[in-house]
Amino acid sequence: QSSGVAPRLKLNDGKEVPALGLGTWLGFTKDGGRVQLKGNEIEKAVEWAIDAGYRHIDTAAIYNTESQVGIAVNQKIAEGVVKREDLFITTKLWNTHHAKDAVVPALQESLQKLNLTYVDLYLIHWPIAESEDHKLESTDYLETWKGMIEARDRGLTRSIGVSNFNQAQLDRLLANTDVKPVALQVEINLNLQQPELLAYCKRQGITVTGYTPFGSLFPSRAADDAPLPRVDDPALVAIAQKYNKTVPQIVLRYEVELGVIPIPKSTTKERVEQNIDVFDFKLSQEDRDVLKAFDKNYRVIPVKHWKDSIYYPFEKN
Ligand code: NDP
Repeated sequence: QSSGVAPRLKLNDGKEVPALGLGTWLGFTKDGGRVQLKGNEIEKAVEWAIDAGYRHIDTAAIYNTESQVGIAVNQKIAEGVVKREDLFITTKLWNTHHAKDAVVPALQESLQKLNLTYVDLYLIHWPIAESEDHKLESTDYLETWKGMIEARDRGLTRSIGVSNFNQAQLDRLLANTDVKPVALQVEINLNLQQPELLAYCKRQGITVTGYTPFGSLFPSRAADDAPLPRVDDPALVAIAQKYNKTVPQIVLRYEVELGVIPIPKSTTKERVEQNIDVFDFKLSQEDRDVLKAFDKNYRVIPVKHWKDSIYYPFEKN
């Protein structure tokens, strides 16, 4: 049983986004490789998610999951479970398509894979440009943004935004455009709460989507040097018991209360259902203070091999 209805939040262009979504990236293995897609696991996850009440799905060209997201979404529309306009689908422009004129064709290719006529949100995945053979390029994201505006004006996406931009990069973008990004997607979890960036986005009216919402909570994914907590942390377990929720639910609820839209990924039916069941309780200030104390400015996804890019967004060491 799931109480899975996420409230809708207003974006700065007047559109609305559900306050929690399903992630569809399969992740890195512990040694840094890409986890390979197994069968139709993303298709199943998206179907379970829609049945459980999710209306917000996050994918990207680079994830190799757009086709399966599209099959599931179109299946649920055909079954009459949802209408297209009830769903909020995000996809992202990869680094190899940062030239202004490359943006519209890249989104057209994504739409073809998704088998949709539009997405709700298109994001510049990273401020960093690369060639097809993985060499860093110097294409300015201000150029890319012009292509994003064109994609929106053509109706291929309802809204446009960015991902992995830092505050200085957002400032520079805002100073050089009339079209404000509606959203910033960045890593947010217990070890990386980013209070200044969240406050900045709030002032600017930019909605924050939080990726990798569980951070290093699960031992299977945590790097050896990752700070605590893990999912069996006694302080977290005590909070979870108090609300009759699981530790992952407490973490997601905390992020919702920070004003962030978490996009947890799971391809396990019971977890997909559990993760959206976080809208029927509220954490006390005391419990939020306990969760706040885990903020260590530690990143799961620093992508250090891009650190020589002039547009690398994070601290370099
Ligand atoms: P998450 O923090 O969502 O963690 C996913 C992992 O947690 C999986 O191993 C999953 O296992 C496990 N899990 C999920 N729910 C539970 C639960 N209730 N109990 C126990 N284990 C659970 O990590 P992601 O990095 O996937 O981030 C989420 C999404 O954010 C991505 O899928 C992607 O859409 C987006 N993202 C965007 C980035 C960007 O650059 N813009 C970068 C990284 C992510 P299992 O699936 O086996 O159930």
